Amino acid sequence: MKSVSNYVLSALLIMCSAFATAEVRVAKLPLYFFIFVHDDISAEDRVALRGNYISWATKEIEGITGRKVYVEYIEHDPSMTRFAYPNENKEVALQEWTSRVDAYRLSHPQPLNKRYKYLLLTKHQLNASTLGVAAQSNYSGIASIQTFQAAAHEFGHMLGATHEAAQTSYIGGWWCSTIMGGYSPLTSNCYIYSDGNRKAIADYLKNTK
Ligand SMILES: [Zn+2]
Repeated sequence: MKSVSNYVLSALLIMCSAFATAEVRVAKLPLYFFIFVHDDISAEDRVALRGNYISWATKEIEGITGRKVYVEYIEHDPSMTRFAYPNENKEVALQEWTSRVDAYRLSHPQPLNKRYKYLLLTKHQLNASTLGVAAQSNYSGIASIQTFQAAAHEFGHMLGATHEAAQTSYIGGWWCSTIMGGYSPLTSNCYIYSDGNRKAIADYLKNTK
């Protein structure tokens, strides 16, 4: 027969484990991706935009971070989706795009924190050698739909991933380049971040609620 102190001890243990469970279950706050679809992307290209460029990438990021990713597509907003992005100097293009994003954020009040990202999706490259550009570990970027991994690549930069941690992997009988690798006609797309970049993304959000 259990003594009274045994009952008290059991009750305390149950309470402690209940508290521990409650602590583990506190949900991490979601990420919000605002994707501005440039006016130069045709209606035909818009049909497959989510499936080809975005949904597999947000699933990958949800798996890495344990956070839900909400995506809002913004179309036909002249001050944003007509932005003149072609530029020989990608840094200048990014600077000007970031100013547009800042103005957008003023008129659509949103918190400025690590969970909010703003990407311009474009038909063409910025210039002959630039598929996209983003502020490292920051909130704004531009990506072309000329390659399937470009949007995920620029979101990767915004989330702390780097070229240095990219990999070439052998998956399904052929060599592929992970999302943060450079584009090469000799490799296919892996559609995943390398282990190093998965860690970089997780670390980037580690101390964020
Ligand atoms: Zn890059």
